[in-house]
Amino acid sequence: MNENQLIYSFAKKHMISPSGLLSLMMPHTSGVGIGVKGLDGHYLLVNKAMNAMFGKSDGQIKNMTDTDIFPPEVAAKLQRSDRKICDGAVAASDELDLSINGAPMRCLSLKFPVMGNDGRILFIGTVMLDISGQENVAEMRQTMDKLQLLNQQLQITLVELDRLASTDKLTGAWNRRRLEEAVVNEMDRLRRYGHPLSMLIIDIDFFKKVNDDYGHVAGDQVLALLAAIIRSSYRATDALTRWGGEEFVVLNPNTTLLTSAILAERLRERIAGEDFPEVKNITVSIGVAECVNGETWEQWFKRADDALYQAKVGGRDRVQLAPERNDRARGGEIASANFVQLSWHSAYECGDSLIDAQHRNLFGDANNLLTAMLSERPADEAGAVIEALIHDVVQHFQDEEAIFAAAGFPGAEEHAAIHRQLVDRAVILVARFHAGTLTIGELFQYLAHDVIAKHILGSDREYFPYLKGSEPTESAVKDQ
Ligand code: GH3
Ligand code: MG
Ligand code: MG
Repeated sequence: MNENQLIYSFAKKHMISPSGLLSLMMPHTSGVGIGVKGLDGHYLLVNKAMNAMFGKSDGQIKNMTDTDIFPPEVAAKLQRSDRKICDGAVAASDELDLSINGAPMRCLSLKFPVMGNDGRILFIGTVMLDISGQENVAEMRQTMDKLQLLNQQLQITLVELDRLASTDKLTGAWNRRRLEEAVVNEMDRLRRYGHPLSMLIIDIDFFKKVNDDYGHVAGDQVLALLAAIIRSSYRATDALTRWGGEEFVVLNPNTTLLTSAILAERLRERIAGEDFPEVKNITVSIGVAECVNGETWEQWFKRADDALYQAKVGGRDRVQLAPERNDRARGGEIASANFVQLSWHSAYECGDSLIDAQHRNLFGDANNLLTAMLSERPADEAGAVIEALIHDVVQHFQDEEAIFAAAGFPGAEEHAAIHRQLVDRAVILVARFHAGTLTIGELFQYLAHDVIAKHILGSDREYFPYLKGSEPTESAVKDQ
């Protein structure tokens, strides 16, 4: 490993932004001593030139302090400069008179802070220049001053470069690298203090079609506006990241799964209602997952990504929560259920206005139950929502049976039997819910998914062709 590689790997290991450290590489060929000290005064990284300058063998200075290397008055001088740097100075220089192996030596030292990504000082960088026997000390000092100025400018440029390199040009959102850096800190807070931490993965539905229909430029505008909407829906601390083409990640620190789900649902609704120039309407699917203590970033991300996938296959334009890996008292019951917002699409219509209105209404009932659950309404309020849902289901089944029987649907009896089974089981489960032996999450799972979504989008389609004027459309077939 050459010295530049050494510095790079040091920077990487300590997660230092290149600012400061890169300046160390500038003079590396010119016999200039360079070193990096921890804030406790021990050198962590020292180049060959610096070891040689002070009569030490390679690697000898590492782990030493200035007191170990220099006479007390020189060490004191250097320590004063260290303090200046720790107090926020961008640079501090000293002229040192030394005796190295009996020979006098004059040395110029320049110190500067080495900053972490959060702008806090992590290390002290040092550049040492041997100026013994130099006639033109004034010139050397000038060079040093120039170097100091250069270092200052370099740091500013690098901070800016780092910002540019960590944000996406089109949307101003963070890029993956920046997110992953933030995630390390947030997951650390979760581990240490138990602060909850959640994430959303937001993906535009059928975005390829937006590009195909309106062109790439219009697509880009959608991305930029979408990012602005997401950003304005969240606090400044909720980092927005463009994860890929039309996929965004929002990190919600100090936020539980339930709160994130409510925020995600609001966001989904807002986006669906937004008027995008040219393209008009877009929808998004959102996967939400709360980080579980002990899981890795990759595992957590995968759970959110799996939830997003479920939202897509579940029909898009919806929020899907990732099941948690282990149940906890807080929200464990609800979180373990696999629930999504049901959204109605015209493709689900059969053409009979009563059936369509009732089906649509049932989707609304299921969503009311979801809202009651997510907002942790008192049990009696949830009970009223459940009662309304069951009432609507029973009424709908009755009306539907009359309609498909009249239409001559040959599977009428069989379908009516399915209705009876669905209702019988619903009655049993509601009783169990009231008796406290079934969670609201499990009840929701059954009512919203099995009775409403699966049945309407599944078995009901069998009688659709028998209703007058209701040839299944191509999109209806595709949406199944
Ligand atoms: P789904 O609902 O399953 O997410 O469908 P989709 O069409 O959104 O998903 P798919 O992954 O098939 O297509 C994503 C499209 O996003 C493909 C690509 O053309 C488009 N895309 C990716 N990055 C950009 C970008 O920077 N600008 C524009 N205009 N389009 C982009
Ligand atoms: Mg998409
Ligand atoms: Mg039916």
